[in-house]
Amino acid sequence: MTYDLVVRSRRTVLPEGTRAAAVAVSGVSIAAVESYGERLDAAREVDLGTLPLLPGLVDTHVHVNEPGRTEWEGFATATRAAAAGGVTTICDMPLNSLPPTTSVAALRDKRAAAAGKCWVDVAFWGGAVPGNAGSLSALHQAGVIGFKCFLLDSGVPEFPPLAAAELRSVLGSLAAMDALLIVHAEDGSQVAAASGRDFGSFVASRPPAAERRAIEKVVAAAAATGARAHIVHLSAAECVAMIAGAKAAGIRLTAETCPHYLFFASEEVPDGATEFKCCPPIRNTANRGALWRGLEDGIIDCVVSDHSPCPPELKSPRSGDFGAAWGGIASLQLGLSAVWTAARRRGRTLDDLARWMAAAPAALAGLPAKGRIAVGCDADLAAFDPEESFVVDPARLEHRHPVTPYAGRTLTGRIRQTWLRGIPLLDADSGTPDGEPVGRLLDRG
Ligand SMILES: [Zn+2]
Repeated sequence: MTYDLVVRSRRTVLPEGTRAAAVAVSGVSIAAVESYGERLDAAREVDLGTLPLLPGLVDTHVHVNEPGRTEWEGFATATRAAAAGGVTTICDMPLNSLPPTTSVAALRDKRAAAAGKCWVDVAFWGGAVPGNAGSLSALHQAGVIGFKCFLLDSGVPEFPPLAAAELRSVLGSLAAMDALLIVHAEDGSQVAAASGRDFGSFVASRPPAAERRAIEKVVAAAAATGARAHIVHLSAAECVAMIAGAKAAGIRLTAETCPHYLFFASEEVPDGATEFKCCPPIRNTANRGALWRGLEDGIIDCVVSDHSPCPPELKSPRSGDFGAAWGGIASLQLGLSAVWTAARRRGRTLDDLARWMAAAPAALAGLPAKGRIAVGCDADLAAFDPEESFVVDPARLEHRHPVTPYAGRTLTGRIRQTWLRGIPLLDADSGTPDGEPVGRLLDRG
């Protein structure tokens, strides 16, 4: 038989570990994983030598903002950034777009806005807000991968938070369909208004107790209903123990953290540097170390970007006021390099990276064809140089707006090529997306 593509690497990152292998692709899928030197008939052949081959990453936390706030970010720009960063599937958050994805009609609007302009595959989260309980089942059947809710003000008026009783009743409904609820877990009663240029004051306004109180509510509601719940963007490392306890007790709870919590520490953030603002906030060095341990111990399941951009005038007001700035960090293109830069110093491996940033998020989102180099999976692959360092130049970012706290930072690890279903996405010389947008819109499962 003649394969459409064979990619060989002496460091192929497979679910069972890294080894020399040849990945044979037929049509859109991985048809065989053979030994590195195996003689295989192929229409196209790529030999990476010692350059590692990773599964394409799955980023389950991306705010695309289209339609409605396309000037913040859009499907074309977000998915180009994803491709350049080795991410082959993104899962779009249900808020910040207009309308928010809280009804089947809104999901239809999303799909129409995304059609034909995605460079990587896109799946969609639905939203659970007060008053849309009647839409959850239809949204689930329409293919969303799960539902997001907030427990405090989301930052946009069209996506209000659930009260504790609503959280419980939504989880009860979702348990009946075995659907996942992902929760922005901060408790509004523990959050103070912030203003001014001092980053420390901003961090103090959203203390670990806000995350702890909210996660307690989620754990209690998940325990009472048997539903699956997931904590997005965990920042407060003191909550790792509670999550570990809930998991040990058989509660169906998972958690993610984000590259910026693993890379930055609050002590290094200059006054007025609102590009570092996100909610919950980046905390101190000790917290960062404890978050890493939670990840290494398997309590935190995955690392995803929470890519949440906005126009520069909203992100970086001239006042430098943390109260006025939009909370969200754009990092879709840089997440892999940022996490690897810190992970390699801790002695972690590419296997860890593939688990945290590809396999675990794919499992979370219920996308069995994604996140692994294995027979039957989509041929989503990334050639990654783990030794190459580079200085982040915002001008080279594909995000709609180049504002990023990583500007000027030296990161280690660079994507050389990304394949989506066997199709190479990047120009080999420039590393920028090339050709046509061939991404598909995915349904759950
Ligand atoms: Zn988010």
